[in-house]
Amino acid sequence: MPTYDYECSYCNLIFDATVPIVKRNEVRCPQCGRLAKRLVGVPAVHIFKPYVHPNLDIKPVRIESRKQEKEEFAKRGLINGNG
Ligand SMILES: [Zn+2]
Repeated sequence: MPTYDYECSYCNLIFDATVPIVKRNEVRCPQCGRLAKRLVGVPAVHIFKPYVHPNLDIKPVRIESRKQEKEEFAKRGLINGNG
């Protein structure tokens, strides 16, 4: 079952719930029991994590050469100081 993120518009609680797809719009706030609003495009695991620059790929990359290093920097829109 997929996990969805919800926000209760009554008590502003943000939570995630693992529910069948057909039930995804019927999830209730665990705090007040009201119908919660599903958050779209915000994975639960990211909500309370430290801020990560959106241009940075969190997957580590093994750098084999100066050329590759430059390419990886360019891919992320970063400028490699000494070129
Ligand atoms: Zn609530």
